Amino acid sequence: MESNKESKEFNFPEADLVKETELFRDCINIVVGKGNSDADILFVGEAAGRNEDEQGIPFCGAAGKNLDKLLANVGLSLDDIYVANILKCRPPENRDPLPDEIRAHTPWLLKQIKDMKPKVVCSLGNYATKFFLSLGDVDLMKKQPGITEVHGEAREIELDGVKFNLIPLFHPAAIIYNRTKLTPLWEADMEKIKKIISGA
Ligand code: URA
Repeated sequence: MESNKESKEFNFPEADLVKETELFRDCINIVVGKGNSDADILFVGEAAGRNEDEQGIPFCGAAGKNLDKLLANVGLSLDDIYVANILKCRPPENRDPLPDEIRAHTPWLLKQIKDMKPKVVCSLGNYATKFFLSLGDVDLMKKQPGITEVHGEAREIELDGVKFNLIPLFHPAAIIYNRTKLTPLWEADMEKIKKIISGA
């Protein structure tokens, strides 16, 4: 498959910021998103891994297979959600995102949020959760509580003029390593999301 890095689709200022980062230079593909961009629910993960980088599709490796399974368990599929990441390119050896990388890559995510106007944003794991709890101020991310403390707690936030319910969820990759404990917590959190979406 040909790399999408030179695609004409990615000629806008938010993409230019990504293209100036080293992550862009070193990645195979830009990983933008997948699913239904008209859906009410946006899931935001951290960054592509090896499979995602090779295919240009988020959550297509082990974490993605688990996400599909977790969604199916609560009666949802990719028709009901859209999935994107904090970073648009894979960090080398899947290392944690650096503050400057988050600063350069999240304007594109914010553009996606403005285009999509989701009712609910589910932040998957610590990085995405801390980004949203900081209202996009990367300097404040370190001060935010971790996912174990805030998973399943819905709060209304406004980012760049878009209001939505933020609901932090455990990252599907973390659930793989702690299925017995985390799966029931994830399912209970998902039921809350379904209630919000149905207006109950
Ligand atoms: N983990 C993420 O956070 N995002 C992906 O796209 C894949 C794995």
